[in-house]
Order: sequence, then structure tokens, then C-alpha cells
Amino acid sequence: MKHSLQNHLAITYTVFVTAAIAVLTLAINIFTGITFTNLIKENIAGKSEEIVRLISELYKPIGDFDRAAIEAIGMYFVHEGYIVSVKDARGEQLWNAFYCDMQQCIKSINDIVSRMEGQFGLKGELRRQEYPIYYKEKKVGSVFIETYGPFFYSETETRFLSSINKLLFIAGLVLALLSTIIAVVLSRSIARPILRAAEAARTIALHSEKGIKKRPCIRVPQQYEMRELHDLSSSINELAFKLEEAERRQMQLSSDIAHELRTPLTCLQGNVEAMVDGVYEPDKENLLSCHEEILRLIRLVEDLNTLTGFEFETIKLNKSSFDLAKLIGHVAEQFKAAAYDKGIVLDLNLVESPIEADYDRLKQVFMNLFSNAFKYTDSGVISVFIESGGCQWHVSISDTGIGISEADIPYIFERFYRTDKSRSRSTGGSGIGLAIVCAIISAHEGSISPENASKVGATFHIYLPAGPAQGQPCTHKIPALLEGVAYGFLPTR
Ligand code: ADP
Repeated sequence: MKHSLQNHLAITYTVFVTAAIAVLTLAINIFTGITFTNLIKENIAGKSEEIVRLISELYKPIGDFDRAAIEAIGMYFVHEGYIVSVKDARGEQLWNAFYCDMQQCIKSINDIVSRMEGQFGLKGELRRQEYPIYYKEKKVGSVFIETYGPFFYSETETRFLSSINKLLFIAGLVLALLSTIIAVVLSRSIARPILRAAEAARTIALHSEKGIKKRPCIRVPQQYEMRELHDLSSSINELAFKLEEAERRQMQLSSDIAHELRTPLTCLQGNVEAMVDGVYEPDKENLLSCHEEILRLIRLVEDLNTLTGFEFETIKLNKSSFDLAKLIGHVAEQFKAAAYDKGIVLDLNLVESPIEADYDRLKQVFMNLFSNAFKYTDSGVISVFIESGGCQWHVSISDTGIGISEADIPYIFERFYRTDKSRSRSTGGSGIGLAIVCAIISAHEGSISPENASKVGATFHIYLPAGPAQGQPCTHKIPALLEGVAYGFLPTR
């Protein structure tokens, strides 16, 4: 059978604390008992000596004792449990408490016996001790003192000891009670967040097959003092958030794909129907228009395929060693005509930059970036430079085009995101190019960040780990991926 965490914690804590309190109380009790007993023994010895001193002072030099005074002293001490008798030097009885008041003597002893045996369980017996009396160094008699031994408590001492024991007992009881309350509160405060997290995880699992819209938004409180509980709660919240995000992304993707396919398909349908109905001539021009839409569809499907391949890591990089500058040079070559047509200056500042990477994929990256730069720039300069950063290459591509607004920057790497939908569509863009760029760079363990669009045009900074051929010690790190600004992963909308 499984125990609840709360009960387990509460019981364990209570048992341990109560045991600790019991041991401590017992130790205090034993220590007090021993110390007190030693004190009592000293007290009994001191009182016996005082009796002897008082009686010896009653000796008269004429050779006798003041018997009336002995009786007064003796009877006084009988009440305190000391049975005194006095003999002279010849051994003759001068005074004996028993003979004087036997009843009182028996009562005193019985009281002590009942206190010691009844209350404290300490068995003893009457012990007799002889104390000789000297006058001018000559023995003039003896005092005999009988007490209950090895020691006994007076009434006051008994009361004191009982109240100490009672106090210890009550303190132990109160502490045990307090510790039980603390244990319950503490175990509740530990177990509750864990139970909540478990409940949340169960709910997530239970509703996972339902759509995001039908599922309750699951979050657990995470403001806990204990770090582990805080971590657990925030992990559960993160898990719930990520699941929701994944589902939202999936829904978004389906609707985006449907939307992207609909436009060329509708166009194709319209054209073909018009040709079938005889509205359009099935001439070369109209067939070319249909062909263009078909090519557009093929490109889109291929792009999506590439992206999914990187997302699910089914695409493996085919790495080789080459010069990144040469690759960029080749790509730039292909845009020379476009630069000439638009009157754009292509400014290349490339240094030899050996790298170990997938040539074709990186070519795709720079083709997309160059293509965008030309697409969104009508005149001015498109400049590219490479610089070394120890163990990485920093490539920067900037243009003097329309630029990217601050608000768009966090989203431009998302699939199908276009800053200006109508314009991008007219320029033939599907909004997938940068998502592929990001996926390829991420697969190379690099990062890409668009520059804050405060200047004219747009700038993309790419950081790629340099190949071993460069032979430099790695002192610099690829810039940290700042959320929404630098991307080395596939962002979500
Ligand atoms: P598209 O195929 O539409 O160009 P991309 O994923 O390559 O898709 O780019 C996403 C969006 O980012 C573009 O629609 C465009 O709005 C913006 N963008 C990309 N590069 C640039 C650039 N160099 N200048 C201005 N805007 C850009």
C-alpha cells in the first residue's frame, strides 16, 4: 500500500522530534537526580555534624551534659528525620529520642519511608552512625544518629523534586505537541505543491488528446520559498506552456500551409477553367503562367520538406572543408546581373575563412539572404564582410533597402511570416526562406541575428563555428541566443 507523502513526512518528523525530546527530558531528569542526590547527601552529612557540634557544646566541665537542652535539640531533629541518642564516656545512655517520644520517631521514619519508597521507589534502611565527643582531647561521650539511608529527602526537597519532574514532563508534552503541529504544517507545505504538480501533470496527460481549445489552461502556483518546489512548479508550467505552444504551432502550420497552397491553386484553377471554357486561349503565355504557379507550388513543397527535415533532424549535414569566402563569392557572382539591373553596388570584403560545413546547405543560406537583400533593396549598396572571432566566423550581410521594423524582428524567422504580406507575395516570397536559413545555421551550431532596424536597410549577422583547419584556440563563443533577436533555433509565433 502506498503512503501519502504528507502523512509519511508528518509521522517521521513527529516520531524523530518526540524521541529526541523524550531522550533530552530523560537526560535532564537523570542529571538533575544525580546532582540533587549528591547535594542531599552533603546536606545530611552537614546536618549530622551540626547536631554533634550542638550537643558537644552542651558538655559541662563538671563531667555532665545539659540533658534538657539535648532533649530540645534531639526532638527538633526527630521532626527532620534524625533519630539521636547520646551516651557518656562509660557508655551509659544519657538521652534517646526513642525513649523520649517513640511515637514521633516512628511517625518521622514512616513518613520518610513512604516518601522514598512510595514516591521515588528508592528502597533503603535505617543506618546508625556514631560520632565521639571530645573535651580537651578526652572522649566524654558519643552521639548516635540514625537516618534512613543511603539518603532521604525532606518534605521540602520532595516537593521541589516533584515540581521539577512535573515541569519537565509538561515541557516535554508541550514540545511534542508543538512538534506534531509543526510537522503537520511543514509536511503540508512540502506535499501540497508536489501533489499540485502531480495533479497538473495528470490533467495534462488526461487532456492531451483533446484540442488546445477544449483543454483547460493548466498552471500551478510557483512562488515557493523552497528552491526544489519552485523548480518543480516552474518545470510543470513550462511543460504545459511548451505543449500548448507545440499544439498552437501545429495548428498554425496547418492553416498557414493551407493558406499558402490555396493562392497558387486557385490561380491555376481559374486559368485552367478559363482555358477549358474558351475564355482564355491555351496559348504559350497562359500556359507559362500556369507553369509558373506550378513551379511556385513545387518550391513551396520543397522548402517545407527541407524545413521539416531540419526540425525532425532527418536531414544530415554533409560536411566538408572549404573556404567560406569562396562560397559567398560564388553566390555573389550569381547576383551580379541583378545588381547591374537595379544599379546596386555589391561591396564584398571577404577574407580567407576555412570552415567545415555542409557546402550546399550554406550556399542555400547565402542564396536566400542575397535574394532577400536584392528583393527588398531598390538602390544603394549591398555589402558583405567576413571577420574572424577566434573559433568562429562572423559574416555580415547588409543592404540599404526597406529595412525591417523593430516590431517585425522577433518574427521574421518564423515560417510564412512576411513583414508586408501583399508586397512579399508580389515579390514571390512565401515567408519560408529565413526559417530555412535559421534551421541550417542552427544545424551548424551557429546563430543568426538581424540588426536593430534603427538604420537604413537591414543587416544580418551570422556566426558559424570555424573548422579545425583554422587551427586557432577557441577563445570566443558564438553569441548567446537572445530571444527574439538572435536565433539559432526554429522560433515559434
Ligand atoms: P520571403 O520569401 O517572403 O522573403 P523570408 O523568410 O526570406 O520570406 O523573409 C521573411 C520576411 O522578412 C520577408 O517577407 C520580408 O518581409 C522580411 N525580410 C527578409 N529579408 C529582408 C531584407 N533584407 N530587407 C527587408 N525585409 C526583409
